[in-house]
Amino acid sequence: MLQHVEQERLHFDQQRRFIYRMAGTLGILAILYAQYANFTDTHQSYFYRVVYVVNHVVFAGICVALIWLLARQRIPIKHLERLALIVFIVQSLGFNGIIPAVFLPTPDAMLLDAIGDDIWFLLIICILAIHLYDVRRGALIAVSVFLASFGVVTVQIVRWNMLGVDAANSERVVSVYLMAGALLGFLVVLSAYRAQAERLRTAYELMREIAYTDALTGLPNRRRLYEDLRRLIATAERYGQTFCVCLFDLDHFKQLNDQHGHLVGDQALRAVARAVPQHLRAADHFGRWGGEEFAILLPQTDLSSAQTALDRVRLELHAINLPDVSMITASFGVTEYVPGDTGETILHRADQAMYLAKTTGRNRVVGDGEPVEMWSV
Ligand code: GH3
Ligand code: MG
Ligand code: MG
Repeated sequence: MLQHVEQERLHFDQQRRFIYRMAGTLGILAILYAQYANFTDTHQSYFYRVVYVVNHVVFAGICVALIWLLARQRIPIKHLERLALIVFIVQSLGFNGIIPAVFLPTPDAMLLDAIGDDIWFLLIICILAIHLYDVRRGALIAVSVFLASFGVVTVQIVRWNMLGVDAANSERVVSVYLMAGALLGFLVVLSAYRAQAERLRTAYELMREIAYTDALTGLPNRRRLYEDLRRLIATAERYGQTFCVCLFDLDHFKQLNDQHGHLVGDQALRAVARAVPQHLRAADHFGRWGGEEFAILLPQTDLSSAQTALDRVRLELHAINLPDVSMITASFGVTEYVPGDTGETILHRADQAMYLAKTTGRNRVVGDGEPVEMWSV
């Protein structure tokens, strides 16, 4: 289980590394294009264009560094992601917030710049922040970056208004930022909902796992087995199928505890838990019924097939090897479903068969209702 999760995590890491390498490569192509546009755009001031050449060179360098670091695989991908976010934030505040606001001559130019790329880049960074951190911290970073950018733009617009520059496009710039802010708020709320739902689901799964698992052996516990039994009865009633229920109890277990101590007793219980499934089918249910008693449910199995399988299990217990501990044996009682059975009636018969196995010598499989000479020893 843990191994599976670890494999999934590694696979996910590899996927992200691949995607980021692609993104880095696309980034370089985009920078080349932006630089070409910068060269051919003669409307902007010379200073403004030089600033953007510097920006492009720095950004291309970052892309190359990112691709190189991703290829080396030494730095955890999470660190790379957060490093990239910081670079993006600086980049956005500088080149999409402050520089355009200061250097663009009019609200018209600012509007074009905002809807052309600034606002999109800002939103991408905010979404990245929400994605990389837990919702609360991610939202705090995203909202701060957004407000900082919006603040710079607002200051410039106020200044233009005071200078008496046409206000219509200023209002449009503000409305673009407000809409983007609304979108961001919506994303934050959605992410918070999702995180909450995920937390609840994880807590539910954990509780379910605990409620249905025996702590010592890790096997399904009595509650779980009882539910499985109820389901088997419902299926049997509906489709006319048969199944068997077996209870088995370790022989003279108190003696083992008394001689070797409880810890060795626990070890023996765990060894039984490991040994038994080797002789069962994947569809069979095996769990700890309580104490040194276990239960096996064998779907679509008649009594004689169940006895054959259980006898293999019985012999497998003999092979358990614990230092200084004599052979582990158990007494098995098994019964087949009879139409009209309830959980209680079928368990009662299995228990009685087990009791017979105990009282007639132990270390045997007794089928409920079969003649004594059939008992396997
Ligand atoms: P029998 O062959 O008749 O079944 O004899 P027994 O000694 O196995 O039966 P008894 O019911 O007298 O004793 C069961 C023992 O199992 C007593 C109890 O301390 C022990 N036991 C129950 N649960 C655990 C457990 O989780 N760990 C350990 N180490 N012992 C347990
Ligand atoms: Mg016992
Ligand atoms: Mg017992």
